[in-house]
Amino acid sequence: MSKYPYQKSESDWKEQLSEEEYRVLRQKGTERPFTGKYNIHFQKGTYTCKGCNTPLFESSSKFDSGCGWPSFDEAIEGTVEYIRDTSHGMIRTEILCNHCGGHLGHVFNDGPTATGQRYCVNSLSIDFES
Ligand SMILES: [Zn+2]
Repeated sequence: MSKYPYQKSESDWKEQLSEEEYRVLRQKGTERPFTGKYNIHFQKGTYTCKGCNTPLFESSSKFDSGCGWPSFDEAIEGTVEYIRDTSHGMIRTEILCNHCGGHLGHVFNDGPTATGQRYCVNSLSIDFES
């Protein structure tokens, strides 16, 4: 059993999500850099989880990191889970939606703002509400 409060069967996830969204959110995939629809996107609003609609990031925390993925300097408190990820020969911190367990991306300690954090998030993992 998954520990997340929002649960769906794999077939329900496949029905809800596009093939690419499923690959990123449920199979920890990564979209190609500079291809996501929220990479260069700076309207005022809230970014929510594509899997379960939980608000994850405020637009005020978004910045242009130049890395090719939407980047934030903080998450809305308590909405993101942090997991040590040693895949691909690197030590990174994976970030997931705390509500449905959907893979969002990774967070790095090289952010340029006061928080020092750079949440690097797949556009495919999130939605936007203005
Ligand atoms: Zn979620």
